[in-house]
Order: sequence, then structure tokens, then C-alpha cells
Amino acid sequence: MPLSGNNRQAGKGPAREAPRCVTRRRLIALSVLAAGSAKAQQRPKISKASKKLAGYIEKDDASAQNCSQCHFYLAPFDCIIVEGPVSPWGYCNYYAD
Ligand code: SF4
Repeated sequence: MPLSGNNRQAGKGPAREAPRCVTRRRLIALSVLAAGSAKAQQRPKISKASKKLAGYIEKDDASAQNCSQCHFYLAPFDCIIVEGPVSPWGYCNYYAD
């Protein structure tokens, strides 16, 4: 049975094959993009220095240079680059203000 003009306009017949192919390509492209973005969202592992290596000490006084004033300090008891827990009144050789 030959295809009529109405069938082609309604999406039936050979003209219907092309969108399926494009959809498959889009699906593959989206899956590649999703895999790439998932990899981009993975954080690099940061290995922290030990307290001994950093020369960490806990001070009795609240001097100007202590963990609570440091750029790497994470309140209340953590540090970005030195293994915790750290005291807000601690100090190490990596101190940065
Ligand atoms: S002084 Fe050292 S231990 Fe304290 S927050 Fe800064 S880098 Fe971390």
C-alpha cells in the first residue's frame, strides 16, 4: 500500500525513522555529558598532614596566631590541612592568616 500525503504528515512511514536516530544520538551525547559532569563533581582527595609533621601545639593563652584565626581552620575542631581534632587555641607551622 503506497503512503499517502496524510500518512507522511502524521509521522507514519519512512519519514518517522529520522527522529528515532536523532533521539539515539542525543541519548548517547547526554550520557557522555552526564558521565563527564559526574567526574567533574568528584572532589580530589586531600591528604592531611599529621600534627607531628605540622608541628602542632596547643597553647594556653589566646595569642594573635592560633587556629581560630587561621585561614585553614574549620570551626569548631577541624582543620583543612592538618589531621584533627584541633583546638581553637592551637597553632602549627602552616598557620596562615
Ligand atoms: S594553625 Fe595549623 S592546625 Fe591550626 S587551623 Fe591553621 S593550619 Fe590548621
